[in-house]
Amino acid sequence: MSEIRKHYFLDDYCIVAAARGKRPSDFSSSPEVQNATSCVFCAGREDQTPPALAVYKNGKILQDSKDEVIRDWQIRCIPNLYPALSPEGADTPCQSGYGFHEVIIETPQHEKKLTNFSDEEMYLLMKAYRDRVIHYWKQPQIRYVSLFKNWGKQAGASLEHTHSQLIALPLIPPSIKRETDVIQAKGECPYCEIVCRESASERSIYENKYFIAFAPYCSKVPFEIWFLPKEHVCHLGALSTEMLFSLGVAMRYVLSRLETVLGSPSYNYMFFQLMKDDTYHLNIRLQPVTSKMAGFEKNTDIFINTMPPEKAAEYLNNEMSEQEIH
Ligand SMILES: [Zn+2]
Ligand SMILES: [Zn+2]
Repeated sequence: MSEIRKHYFLDDYCIVAAARGKRPSDFSSSPEVQNATSCVFCAGREDQTPPALAVYKNGKILQDSKDEVIRDWQIRCIPNLYPALSPEGADTPCQSGYGFHEVIIETPQHEKKLTNFSDEEMYLLMKAYRDRVIHYWKQPQIRYVSLFKNWGKQAGASLEHTHSQLIALPLIPPSIKRETDVIQAKGECPYCEIVCRESASERSIYENKYFIAFAPYCSKVPFEIWFLPKEHVCHLGALSTEMLFSLGVAMRYVLSRLETVLGSPSYNYMFFQLMKDDTYHLNIRLQPVTSKMAGFEKNTDIFINTMPPEKAAEYLNNEMSEQEIH
């Protein structure tokens, strides 16, 4: 049986095609070969990248200078060598091409994955995300800061060493604008409603003091997962230390479960947030990459998802092997 599902509050749809009855192994991928021999994100090759704009080291935030690169760091933020947008070349911020593109190298160790991070390491990463987003939001003419992670070649990562990216834009993306228009017309926060609806639903996956994680009702792709702060918080900058810590723990937990159930999937996660609009509710969306967007999706923007979110949550919540759940 297939079912057309509508997004919680937007005119977006997906087709949940449960009849195909796929199992997690149909979506799993094998780990990619790691090659550290020429990786410029690794410790010891700091001078092969542009100078770092922020370096997290022993509780301090430092910067590389012309004469000295900082070694023995924990997190290193550098300008992207091939930026999608750049502040240089544009005489005024209004000119096309203006923006910033940064890479956040999450660890000096090549083989380490987020699922191997300690609570403290996850917290430091969340803190770096928060600091860098706020930094770019304060730049002239910047209207939106896109923060995301591509993990695995299928998800668009050109380097294997674990990293995230941030692109600061002089415009608000149309999809965000469309969302905020609906939210403002509604007059109340739909995400706060979603928190109530999903925290005890059959799609719920994880909950701690400040965050919930669940497979959204209208999941576009198999094993899509959203993270929402339980309180109405607009952006990372409004999260307390304790909340950032909770977010890090929640994200690592869910990524570990995905790894157990799917092997080592490629994935993207994206932060949706607005700095100057207190009606918006911070949300983070994680999408494993299990298939390519094809003609139907490109034609209609309606995704066919062959893993119902209820079933995905069941797999992620269950310690049993997949043979035992049908
Ligand atoms: Zn490396
Ligand atoms: Zn809210």
